[in-house]
Amino acid sequence: MLRHLARKLRASGPVTVAEYMREALTNPGQGYYTRRGGVGESGDFITSPEISQVFGELIGIWYISEWMAMGKPSTLQLVELGPGRGTLTEDILRVFKQLASVLSKCDVSVHLVEVSPKLSEIQAVTLTGGKVQPNPEDKSAYMEGISKNGIPIFWYSNIQDVPPGYSFYLAHEFFDALPIHKFQRTEKGWREVLVDIDPEVPDQLRFVLSPSRTPATQNFIQPEETRDHVEVCPEAGVIVQRLASRIEKDGGAALVADYGHDGTKTDTFRGFRNHKLHDVLSAPGTADLTADVDFSYLRKMAQGRTATLGPIKQREFLKNMGIDLRLQVLLQNSGDTATRQQLLHSYDMLMNPEKMGDCFNFFALLPHHRLVHPDKKDKSKSPSPPVAGFNELLLK
Ligand code: SAH
Repeated sequence: MLRHLARKLRASGPVTVAEYMREALTNPGQGYYTRRGGVGESGDFITSPEISQVFGELIGIWYISEWMAMGKPSTLQLVELGPGRGTLTEDILRVFKQLASVLSKCDVSVHLVEVSPKLSEIQAVTLTGGKVQPNPEDKSAYMEGISKNGIPIFWYSNIQDVPPGYSFYLAHEFFDALPIHKFQRTEKGWREVLVDIDPEVPDQLRFVLSPSRTPATQNFIQPEETRDHVEVCPEAGVIVQRLASRIEKDGGAALVADYGHDGTKTDTFRGFRNHKLHDVLSAPGTADLTADVDFSYLRKMAQGRTATLGPIKQREFLKNMGIDLRLQVLLQNSGDTATRQQLLHSYDMLMNPEKMGDCFNFFALLPHHRLVHPDKKDKSKSPSPPVAGFNELLLK
């Protein structure tokens, strides 16, 4: 990958950080996600669903509670973006199975948006036991199968290929993996940060600044910007626009969970390999590259088509969803000390403000009618129940 990139940079000059990140992560032959996958204890980074089944179970309950609050539509598509090893969807489907009597009249299907052939294979094993069939090229889904409890599952490369319909979208640690542009304020105005080859050291990459403004500096920096360094992820913006349009038209909701900020942080671009920080410019393709999600940008890109809730800290969301009670039940039901210790340890990982509790956030897109304040609605109708997990005060 480095040699391929170095040749390209020598031939046609520096590239944007977004181009570099896209190449390093999802190049069809050599990209990090395409080849390595990386998620899990034996990989490069560990995620909440891989730490505890409780995480996915509470998200499953969130979806059921929203489905009920929206009048129990007769079909429901669960659409996960970047499903990793498939663990989160597996945990959600287990909740759907446990609550089968509630969902009995609902036609449920699962739609996974995944670019990595390697990870989609792992997802297929997790969710179907490996019983999948590739689809002929003329179909939008590249693979399909049936979950262990009989739910149809489809795989796509792009959210646009997912059929329209009432859908619950889920993006856990997905937006942070999408390519970002980086900008630096200078005395001469905004400049874009680019990746170039170091002329002094063979095959070594370095950051440089664009000599003048670029189309991206003009399009992505707001006139009122006060920071000196800014990261923007236009691909995340386009996806949120699509989710918001779909929810506005067909109903449903989107839940986004990721590390991030509300338009305040500056330089967050970093790499991970074997659970340690890794220089983003060294050995591209062998490490996960990531940047904090800017939730203020996602909110802006929903363009008022839906209401938005959050970001709210993971520990608050999970507490509101009843994680403490769930932990008590699991502790009571587990006979051995090792399991109990494991349960307490994973609870601490998810909830401790110094671990994942504070840096991960939950953010939701919901149809406007779902959040209409009771007194503004027709008095004869009963008020909408509050949205589980989120505090009313965070209503934006
Ligand atoms: N949600 C999982 C995995 C997070 S890792 C978890 O929390 O455990 C990021 C996931 O997004 C991987 O599955 C990766 O292959 C996928 N991904 C990255 N870029 C993508 C893109 N542009 N389109 C679709 N999937 C992508």
